[in-house]
Amino acid sequence: MAMLHARTGQLENGDPISPPIVTTAKYKLSGTPDTPYTYGRDINPTVEATEAAIRALEQAPVIAFPSGMAAITAALMATVKAGDRVLVPSDGYYVTRVLLGDILSDHDIHLDAIPTKAFAAADLSSYAVVWAETPSNPGLDLCSIRSLSEAAKASGATLIVDNTTLTPLLQRPLDLGADMIVSSDTKAMAGHSDCLYGHIATRDEALFQKAWKWRKVSGSIPDPFASFLVHRGLMTLELRLQRMCANAQALADTIDGHAAIEAVKYPGVGFVMGLTFSSESIAERFIEDCPAIFASTSFGGVHTSAERRARWGDEVSDGFVRLSVGCEPTDALVAAIEATLETL
Ligand SMILES: *Cc1c(COP(=O)(O)O)cnc(C)c1O
Repeated sequence: MAMLHARTGQLENGDPISPPIVTTAKYKLSGTPDTPYTYGRDINPTVEATEAAIRALEQAPVIAFPSGMAAITAALMATVKAGDRVLVPSDGYYVTRVLLGDILSDHDIHLDAIPTKAFAAADLSSYAVVWAETPSNPGLDLCSIRSLSEAAKASGATLIVDNTTLTPLLQRPLDLGADMIVSSDTKAMAGHSDCLYGHIATRDEALFQKAWKWRKVSGSIPDPFASFLVHRGLMTLELRLQRMCANAQALADTIDGHAAIEAVKYPGVGFVMGLTFSSESIAERFIEDCPAIFASTSFGGVHTSAERRARWGDEVSDGFVRLSVGCEPTDALVAAIEATLETL
């Protein structure tokens, strides 16, 4: 509700309901700058409109970025310095580990990776930053953000949660004590698989200012057109999530225990599921043969899509399929998937 009307509440008679796509590098700026609209790398009205909608969802200050990885980079730039250690999930989004292990390692920043399930018992005392992802992607294991935030606070670590898989409508890490969230809005937030986007949200003013400065000086402001697409997508976020989560629950109820699948993993919330088949070839046949499944990486779009994560080197079995459940009519989707399972 607050998100839907974040823009409409501000409008005057004659203003457009959708945010204008403002493509400009320059603004009129004579004499002593007396406006925040100085240069396109600093600020853009379309980006601001999208940030306002996301801010209403997060109930926290938000900075938008051109991709989830750009948001993750900003979050780390705002929190780590040379000599620091970062704890990350070994079963979480792998590019975050690549950024830390292959690039930030050259700047004397170190990572340790442990399974999400091991976070609860981990000793956090040596970490500047604890990075959590729950449910983890693609493993779909869980950890308690509240317990982790208490442990992080006690040991002086900053807790950052990658909240991509659930979005602020399904999980609110800042309310559970996290210092910052990052999100790839390429996924469910934008929701139509037609643009890349990301954001951070934090109620910590110092962290916000550092991330803001990073965006400005690194030039990672998002494109106005992508911002427009995300704004448009956000207007139906709740509806899409309702259908996607209901579809995922219906599928989990129907196919759990099916003879063609070794294991069905569904954390009971969200729209991402893990299906384990007995081999790579059966998993590939399932993805290719089912007319209701679009074979692709990524998740959170309106189309149900799937991929074998082992093809990227994730620590999962060769027959593990990550299924991103979409907005198709529930009965038709369940029937199509069941019919394909019967042929395997
Ligand atoms: C996709 C994803 C990212 C990266 O986002 P991009 O928009 O592709 O850069 C980060 N974290 C998680 C959990 C993701 O699924």
